[in-house]
Amino acid sequence: MRTSQLAVFHGPGQPITLETVPVPALREGEILVRNEYTTLCRSDLNTFSGKRRERTPTILGHETIGVIAELAASAPTRDARDRDLRVGDRVTWAIYASNPDSWLARVGIPQKGPGLFKYGHEPITPDSTLHGGLAEFCILRRHTPVIRIDAGIPLPVMALINCSVATVAGSLRLAGPLTEHNVVIAGAGMLGVIACAMGRCAGARHIIAVDIEDSRLATARAFGADFTVNLQSGGGSLKDQVERFIPGEAVTVGLDYSGVPETMEALVGVLGVGGVAILIGATFPQRPLQINAEQLIRNIHTLRGLHNYNEWDFIAAVNFMEQNHQRFPFASLVVDGFHLASVNEAFDFGLKSGAHRVGVRLGAGS
Ligand SMILES: [Zn+2]
Repeated sequence: MRTSQLAVFHGPGQPITLETVPVPALREGEILVRNEYTTLCRSDLNTFSGKRRERTPTILGHETIGVIAELAASAPTRDARDRDLRVGDRVTWAIYASNPDSWLARVGIPQKGPGLFKYGHEPITPDSTLHGGLAEFCILRRHTPVIRIDAGIPLPVMALINCSVATVAGSLRLAGPLTEHNVVIAGAGMLGVIACAMGRCAGARHIIAVDIEDSRLATARAFGADFTVNLQSGGGSLKDQVERFIPGEAVTVGLDYSGVPETMEALVGVLGVGGVAILIGATFPQRPLQINAEQLIRNIHTLRGLHNYNEWDFIAAVNFMEQNHQRFPFASLVVDGFHLASVNEAFDFGLKSGAHRVGVRLGAGS
């Protein structure tokens, strides 16, 4: 019988343990994937440290890439881009499995549909074990968007697609076409840096990245930001600093990946008439924002939130990475060299180093 190692997270402050379980027989419609590489998302680190809560025991890891090991009866033989799926294909898959016929799925929000299943977020139970990236195998359930990737993209870069890149693709979809727009991107972590690159490729007029660390702002420039603002530099308000970079021009798109209330308030404050702000970073408990409704109304602002992404965003993310993975230094964002056996060290390193991502190699030969 085939077995799988898995890294079991028991709760904050407790070491992750390695266990071995039998790989269960697949149910109808399922795909067995041999995981190859997982990058630790900020939400994984927040769960590990206790900043955010997850049902335990669980397998963390949802930024993952792998190879199809087995297709069950009635499993999809075409991917989300309508290409063949076969054993041995390298694939990426969405963070969710969601009934495509639900009302929410039909209006473009499958990631919140009834009966939602989220990889890297589900408890381990006797009949559901292999559903995270930090294991040798993962079982993809029915209604999981899957995409075959043929391009020769390095594994650590491919792993970023199904959380970071797809989420940024979703935020750009909500922002609308960026051509000739001035865009302010708050938070130069992984999502903010990818947003600089995607915004550049989408034809933004100017991109202004905002953070509190100069090293992260330097990375944002390498990924396409024209100007950067360090909020702790003492250079005045965000609005004043932005106006110095683009005198006489308006900011019409603001993307927040920082999740910091003061920064989100400042971001809304720099928007010109008709501006759109998309909030993506605040995925943990925090105080309410102070938004001036009169300003919102008179300036005809739009304020939207986004959590995760849908299938269109997922496809856009794969297309973007296939076309642009060599245009920007994505591999420099991932600290490589960890394995399933050193997964606790990988989490510790991710929390202490502030690296954009820490990568874990999986499976035989890793
Ligand atoms: Zn994530």
